[in-house]
Amino acid sequence: MSKELVVITGASSGIGEATAKAFSLAGHPLLLLARRVERLEALELPSTMCEKVDVTDLDSFKSAVKKAEAKYGQVDCLVNCAGLMLLGNIDTQSPAEWKAMFDVNVMGVLNGVKSVISEMKARKGGTIVNISSVAGRKTFPEHAAYCGTKFAVHAMTENIREEVCGSNVRLVTIAPGVVETELLSHTTSDEIISGYNEFKKSMGSVLIPQDIAGAIMFAYQQPQNVCVREIVIAPTGQP
Ligand code: NDP
Repeated sequence: MSKELVVITGASSGIGEATAKAFSLAGHPLLLLARRVERLEALELPSTMCEKVDVTDLDSFKSAVKKAEAKYGQVDCLVNCAGLMLLGNIDTQSPAEWKAMFDVNVMGVLNGVKSVISEMKARKGGTIVNISSVAGRKTFPEHAAYCGTKFAVHAMTENIREEVCGSNVRLVTIAPGVVETELLSHTTSDEIISGYNEFKKSMGSVLIPQDIAGAIMFAYQQPQNVCVREIVIAPTGQP
């Protein structure tokens, strides 16, 4: 039996890229979204549509989904992986950085849900996986706005899950601890970056993106009547 369409945001690097490879290996056609479309294309995955979409733009998210559905059929899974982490002290960080994180990490997730949920409810099936963070369950120094966005992802995912569970649609929160990716590189304070790197070193080793892709696949591959609501997955050495 042919596999169903999976949409992955933020597939141009890190966790999203590893997740795209895992779903592709499992035989799914894919719609991959990011701003750096050339990095999506460079993955050269079979039966894959790559679209340059900024997740803060609902209209372009929706039209990419429509285009992929016309080619591959209805979306069975959306993985909202696109995210931005800009660490900073509350008194010195620019409000523009707070806004950038809320736009991508919160509005981007809502835009993704909005782009697929009506169809999923109508056909009574489908899965939405939202990537939150351990920083969506507890706080850390210099993480005020980032933690705010990730606590929001936990809350929104659970709320939407309650709203659509009667339509047989699953909502899953994946909350990773520290994973080696490009995420930290966007923080503008060198001091905060080196402090974070010390925190990483203290753990002995951190996770790799494939670890998170494995957790996503585990949740998705359960029978549709089994909803893995939340997975928290972190390095063993992370306090
Ligand atoms: P990366 O920086 O490697 O990947 C982030 C991805 O998000 C990129 O593909 C980037 O693509 C995409 N992205 C960012 N902004 C936008 C936008 N406006 N529109 C579309 N895509 C966008 O980081 P990770 O893989 O680590 O992050 C993936 C998710 O995992 C994030 O939600 C992050 O918060 C979460 N996470 C990561 C942890 C870690 O330790 N790495 C820990 C806990 C959670 P492009 O720039 O091409 O648009």
